[in-house]
Amino acid sequence: MGNYPRIGRLAGSNAVKTLMPAINELAQHVARDVRLMEVCGTHTMSAFRSGLPQLLPRNVRLISGPGCPVCVTDTNYIDAAIALCRRPDVMVTTFGDLVRVPGSPSVGGSLERERAAGGDLRVVYSPTDAVAMAQEHPAKKVVFLGVGFETTAPTVAASILLAAKDGVENYFVLCAHKTMPRAMEALLQNQEVKIDGFLCPGHVSVITGAAMYRFICEKYKVPCVVAGFEAWDMLKAIEMLLAQIAEGSAKVEIEYSRSVNERGNVAAQKLLTEVFEECDAGWRGLGNIPRSSLAIRAKYARFDAAKALGVKFEAARPDPGCRCGDVLRGVITPPDCKLYGKACTPTDPVGPCMVSNEGTCAAYYRYEKRAV
Ligand code: SF4
Repeated sequence: MGNYPRIGRLAGSNAVKTLMPAINELAQHVARDVRLMEVCGTHTMSAFRSGLPQLLPRNVRLISGPGCPVCVTDTNYIDAAIALCRRPDVMVTTFGDLVRVPGSPSVGGSLERERAAGGDLRVVYSPTDAVAMAQEHPAKKVVFLGVGFETTAPTVAASILLAAKDGVENYFVLCAHKTMPRAMEALLQNQEVKIDGFLCPGHVSVITGAAMYRFICEKYKVPCVVAGFEAWDMLKAIEMLLAQIAEGSAKVEIEYSRSVNERGNVAAQKLLTEVFEECDAGWRGLGNIPRSSLAIRAKYARFDAAKALGVKFEAARPDPGCRCGDVLRGVITPPDCKLYGKACTPTDPVGPCMVSNEGTCAAYYRYEKRAV
């Protein structure tokens, strides 16, 4: 337990004292190995920070999936953003997580390095800040890097509608928004890792509602529980998943009921539908997944950086030694990558899973083992 700063507190908490006996009993009753996948970077961080995996019975394993939006964004998107940053007429705006993600080795560097080399890169807290920057800098084409799941996409949709309303002609979005359910389905279809249950993402589900996971239960007979972000939320969700597995059922349940319901946030969903449409897209490690992403509708094409600024996406070429793709599919844990803790560390990352605050390699490095 020595590497888990909070495990002592967690282990002694009332929630754990209440939940662990039930979890142990259910695990015994199931009497086989059970793999539960969390598909949310915040869950990944919370689990590692609290030492939760160490509390689980031997036959219950928590594995991390493609829940970090920066991590699943393919290298060719980073390359395209770097190319934009090299244009003197462009200001690139982004959330901070993306800044240090390396592009393809052939392109070299990251957005951070482009900024050091004189590129106009600004970190913003909201896409509407980027719209304001476009208004303040009319000579620049201001591009916001639209990366994230259903949680982030409504704010980007709102920024496009704001720019349309205010007649901001120099605001663009380089869109790589992704949606979660089809990626979960892709993992079940490729069967590389047997998944016995999903801890579904809390933030995403606030927007989408829990009903969107129903097809996973019905078609693949895999239970889904939407979980909150405290360690006890996750433990409760694990108990709920084990109870379903023990009784042989597969349904959607909501542990995070203080924020999530079946329908989700209808106003945010309307924003998404107004501005975006479903499209196929490449995910790092998972390849092309049909209907797994959001594209800007033709009606708002003038805000689409790919179309309006002629951005070209080359084939994705990640560092050949980096195994982020395998980490994102839950096939390996970070120390299985030869670069982990040696050539790849948080200060000198090779792949996005070591960069992002929600990345599995970063979480593992920080809380599990500092090096191998
Ligand atoms: S340790 Fe680094 S190189 Fe290896 S999978 Fe993780 S991020 Fe990629």
